Amino acid sequence: MAESVECVVIGAGVVGLAVARALAQKGLETVVVEAESGIGTGTSSRNSEVIHAGIYYPTGSLKARFCVAGKHALYRYCAEHGVTTHNCGKLIVATAEDQVEGLKGLVARGHANGVPDLRMLSRAEALAMEPALSCVTAVHSPSTGIVDSHAFMLALQGDLESAGGMLAFASPVLRGACRDDGITLEVGGETASEIRARVVVNSAGLAAPGLAGQLDGLADTHVPKAYFAKGNYYTLTGRSPFSRLIYPAPEAAGLGVHLTIDLGGQARFGPDVEWVESLDYTVDPRRADSFYAAIRAYWPQLPDGALAPGYAGIRPKLQAPGEPAYDFVIDGPQVHGVPGLINLFGIESPGLTSSLAIAEYVADML
Ligand SMILES: Cc1cc2nc3c(=O)[nH]c(=O)nc-3n(C[C@H](O)[C@H](O)[C@H](O)COP(=O)(O)OP(=O)(O)OC[C@H]3O[C@@H](n4cnc5c(N)ncnc54)[C@H](O)[C@@H]3O)c2cc1C
Repeated sequence: MAESVECVVIGAGVVGLAVARALAQKGLETVVVEAESGIGTGTSSRNSEVIHAGIYYPTGSLKARFCVAGKHALYRYCAEHGVTTHNCGKLIVATAEDQVEGLKGLVARGHANGVPDLRMLSRAEALAMEPALSCVTAVHSPSTGIVDSHAFMLALQGDLESAGGMLAFASPVLRGACRDDGITLEVGGETASEIRARVVVNSAGLAAPGLAGQLDGLADTHVPKAYFAKGNYYTLTGRSPFSRLIYPAPEAAGLGVHLTIDLGGQARFGPDVEWVESLDYTVDPRRADSFYAAIRAYWPQLPDGALAPGYAGIRPKLQAPGEPAYDFVIDGPQVHGVPGLINLFGIESPGLTSSLAIAEYVADML
């Protein structure tokens, strides 16, 4: 006999936790079902921890809307919950004249997206801020920052539990059956079980499309193909001369090899873009070679041998290599016709920044 609950959220990453919190705070009985033995062990602990401003994404897209709204909500939430953030700002740098038009386009797009404080800097202004930099011009984004993402997730978990929500760890959802009167999920783990829910939010990150494919009653046409783009990071041994985040002009599939710092002051470079077939997080030391050239375009004094393999994350992409970037996909019954089912696909960057806004959007869909 299946256990019955009102809402199940599959996946305890930052997005699943934020969604579950929002549902529980709406008064809905909510259980998060997580394959691993703790929260945030997937992409949510393998990213840059940057609070993005909302510059890069097409105006009107979910990414643009959620990033801008999510940024404000995240700073506010962290201040109220004692989660550390550092509003350090960032520079996006043009290192060649042919990148300048692209940066002007970013400023215009950022303004259209609701990021009014972006400003184009002269070379002298940029160097006054960051003397170690080499550039022809730069964009200053004052609202960009960094966040202690694990403390943020713990705070979300605390809110969820205070609102009566629960988490079930080591409980991988294997498959499900969608019927008009509810969705029955088969859950593996040490003791296999079944859960029946009126609402199921598939927030399984990299596994979300594969899991959707295991839901009987959901048409295949609503199950996207998943692509994986690994991002490798290399940590800087020694002190960074920069106090802000430094990004190059963006590339086709990512934001370029950028410098971020964590709240402990440790600088790291990455992520690059490596299309992979499987979820292997090993960082190949040989890939550092291409990092030196990319970083020296904006920091010529990067010492030889200063980069050590760090960690890797994998972006849940919906486009094949070389295709234009997809927006976040949040499919509810209006799209796929299955009552109570919400699938979250392609929640790559800026998913951390957007998490509270995504959660509000999903809660409003119910
Ligand atoms: C390299 C990289 C850098 C990034 N940098 C940033 C950044 O600086 N700023 C930013 O805003 N965003 C960034 N992002 C994006 C951000 O990290 C993600 O959007 C966010 O973490 C996604 O959270 P999630 O909850 O959707 O997925 P996840 O964190 O992957 O969580 C999914 C969860 O589902 C669980 N799960 C999977 N299958 C099942 C199953 N069958 N049953 C039960 N549970 C299951 C997994 O174990 C996992 O815990 C970055 C991403 C990458 C890859």
